[in-house]
Amino acid sequence: MNIHEYQTKELLRGYGVPVPEGRVAHNVDNAATVADELGGERWVVKAQIHAGGRGKGGGVKVASSLDEVRHFADQMIGSHLVTPQTGPEGRLVQRVLVEQASNIRQEYYLGLVIDRATQRITVIASASGGMNIEEVAKTDPDRVIREAIDPAVGLMSFQCRKIAANIGLQGRQIGEAAKLMKALYRCFRDKDALLAEINPLAEVEDGSLIALDAKMSFDGNALYRRPQITELRDFDEEDPKEVEATGHGLNYIALDGNVGCIVNGAGLAMATMDAISFHNGKPANFLDVGGGASPEKVGNAFRIVLQDPNVKIILVNIFAGINRCDWIAEGLVQAMRDQQIDVPIVVRLAGTNVEKGGPILAESGFPFIMADNLDDAATKVMATLEASA
Ligand code: GDP
Ligand code: MN
Repeated sequence: MNIHEYQTKELLRGYGVPVPEGRVAHNVDNAATVADELGGERWVVKAQIHAGGRGKGGGVKVASSLDEVRHFADQMIGSHLVTPQTGPEGRLVQRVLVEQASNIRQEYYLGLVIDRATQRITVIASASGGMNIEEVAKTDPDRVIREAIDPAVGLMSFQCRKIAANIGLQGRQIGEAAKLMKALYRCFRDKDALLAEINPLAEVEDGSLIALDAKMSFDGNALYRRPQITELRDFDEEDPKEVEATGHGLNYIALDGNVGCIVNGAGLAMATMDAISFHNGKPANFLDVGGGASPEKVGNAFRIVLQDPNVKIILVNIFAGINRCDWIAEGLVQAMRDQQIDVPIVVRLAGTNVEKGGPILAESGFPFIMADNLDDAATKVMATLEASA
């Protein structure tokens, strides 16, 4: 789960990470008031959306007067901001962060991620801040420094000093950076984060370091024990189909192909997507109905998959253990009766009560396309798509 920059900064401030003075504003008057209260002569107005690259898209502006603050806030709030990370449709900006502007001397990168290979929280740092770190890693890998953290002892001072020196910090900055890294690590660990990224970590006029941009995302499976983080969730930034699916106990992830997939179990979902890809198709989603799926749950699965206008065919692939093929079949027939379903449906059933499930579909009178196994199912999906193209 991702949160907004202003929320991340609020959280990090509590841990002792230096961040600019600032507050969120939901309208133009509010933005001007915040700037006035902050004082100073220059402010930054920053569009709050769950996507980076805002600087490139016009979502980060430095204002030199309260009128300019109003002007930029007015431009941003209510607009759809397009950045290299949003896709062409952009994201609706509902609020801006207004901060005191900093005079930047140098931009660094500092991040924490979970490295799955070493199974450790890992610090990533670079002297090439302000830019896309993936890009730096590709073009200039020597400029990206990695340091794994041993969970038994946490982030050690010597590691912090090493990282700081390696990205070119000097003198008292080394100690400052070490304090900042430790604070970031404590927050990351305490809150079950998956990613924390400060980009840029800026060196300002007087040589001190400050987190000018901050992004964090958190492990959805740990939210049950992190109520403070759960409260920061912004459903407007998430795919409404995914939100609805969660409410129905379904696991749905939107993708960009045209084959809707309804399956049971995450492993089978992966195998199904692989089979479709192997036959040169593209899955439109990943939908896992889980174990013991009732006919109602199957109906909800159809409703959610069909909300995606790109879906041209649906593949139902069930390998029933705890599930029952007769229940799934009843759910399918019920969905055909209740819903406006005008895309073809390929069904592969196997496992518990398959001898009852098949006849239910066959006797329903609906034109289900039956498949014997996963490969057969993927083949029939592609053949049907081709025939209707
Ligand atoms: P992102 O593009 O979404 O990653 O947004 P950032 O918060 O990283 O802002 C993009 C760029 O705007 C930064 O790399 C800085 O160069 C610039 N910027 C952000 N805050 C300030 C500030 O307080 N003063 C100045 N002069 N530039 C800023
Ligand atoms: Mn940034």
